[in-house]
Amino acid sequence: MNPINTNGSDSADVIIVGGGIIGCLTAYYLTQRGIKPIVVEADAIASGASGTSAGWLTPSSHMDDPGLSALSDTTYRLHEELAETLPALTGIDHGYWISSYVRCAMTEGGVALLRDFQTRRGSDGAAMEWLSGEEVRRVNPWITAEVFGGVFSDREPNVDSYRLTMSALQAAEMAGVRVISGRVSGILSSSSDVASGVRLEDGTEVHADNVVLTMGPWAGEAAAWLDRPIPIRPQRGQLVYLAPPEDGEGPGLEVGMTAIEGGSSMIQKRLTDTVVGATSEFVGFDRSITTSARDELLLSASKLSSRVETARISGQTACLRPVSGDDRPYIGPIPGWEGVYMASGHGGHGIHYGPVTAAAITGLIADGASEYDISALDPARAVGPAT
Ligand SMILES: Cc1cc2nc3c(=O)[nH]c(=O)nc-3n(C[C@H](O)[C@H](O)[C@H](O)COP(=O)(O)OP(=O)(O)OC[C@H]3O[C@@H](n4cnc5c(N)ncnc54)[C@H](O)[C@@H]3O)c2cc1C
Repeated sequence: MNPINTNGSDSADVIIVGGGIIGCLTAYYLTQRGIKPIVVEADAIASGASGTSAGWLTPSSHMDDPGLSALSDTTYRLHEELAETLPALTGIDHGYWISSYVRCAMTEGGVALLRDFQTRRGSDGAAMEWLSGEEVRRVNPWITAEVFGGVFSDREPNVDSYRLTMSALQAAEMAGVRVISGRVSGILSSSSDVASGVRLEDGTEVHADNVVLTMGPWAGEAAAWLDRPIPIRPQRGQLVYLAPPEDGEGPGLEVGMTAIEGGSSMIQKRLTDTVVGATSEFVGFDRSITTSARDELLLSASKLSSRVETARISGQTACLRPVSGDDRPYIGPIPGWEGVYMASGHGGHGIHYGPVTAAAITGLIADGASEYDISALDPARAVGPAT
């Protein structure tokens, strides 16, 4: 690690490239350690997937991956803390709430899958209750007769990820963080492979001894700056929003729901309409919405809830997940470089893993080590050696 610049001059201690959830939470956690980074953002804060995700925090994610499952619990706890601290600091309610959810089985095969899921998720202390088809419809009468049964959980938190990202940045700005508008186009180095800042597209140079790359699906651009392969690619995800009931019409969900066999998920939000998602499409950096995706999502959701067909569509969004080579994020120092860190490639779980990622990077910069075990996520497994 390069020493932190604490001379109080205009130069930053750390530059964070990208103002999505990972960059803004990293900025916030760094300020908790007395470090004041600059955030450089090419577009608008939270203009990427962080501003338009479903915001579901997935305690059951990565149960089969020991490198990530321990961090899943930690990040869940950090989200609980942020739900207390950030609104108190900034006055922004980021919509954290613990909702109920039914994972439904639509086939006999799905029942077996769900039973297995229930055992494994139950073993980590989560309350998971098996319900027959009839019982599921007592929880929510709109669940269709096509649903064989389901596993009910009353501990499925979600957030408004746009508000969370904005709130983290606001808290960071209150502690002295600055935001620069511009697209980073290269890393500056004081000597071979020692970072000294970044260069922007318009030629501006911003100096700091530590640079954190939190560019989401655009992180692959840094391969040319670092002379290292960075296998991150964009995956488009589309969501449809359904308005709450009006005169008895609408989705009227008492619980969120998904089919264990795949297809749409319906997620209840506290501050916005019900979210139906999501597609997974490899179409480069195209962020257009499509009618075919809307129809496909609603058709699949209508197999879960009979109210979808009469629901009023209140919105549709498309954004890009940052997908890594092995579906795990890259979190840690870039091999062969001094003072360059990567925190990108979270795929469909960046909101969930945002806090632990940001806290780990903060530990690496402030203390030279992360208090959380991120060894399985070391960028060295894919990023390097020189191309
Ligand atoms: C449809 C959909 C639903 C999702 N639902 C969930 C969910 O329920 N739960 C969950 O945990 N995750 C979910 N995700 C995933 C989550 O949204 C992402 O993993 C997360 O937002 C990634 O955050 P990020 O900060 O890495 O990237 P981004 O949010 O993409 O931010 C990167 C930022 O970097 C900026 N940037 C890029 N290049 C440069 C440059 N050269 N110079 C300066 N700035 C630059 C961009 O403009 C952007 O603002 C979902 C994703 C999608 C698409």
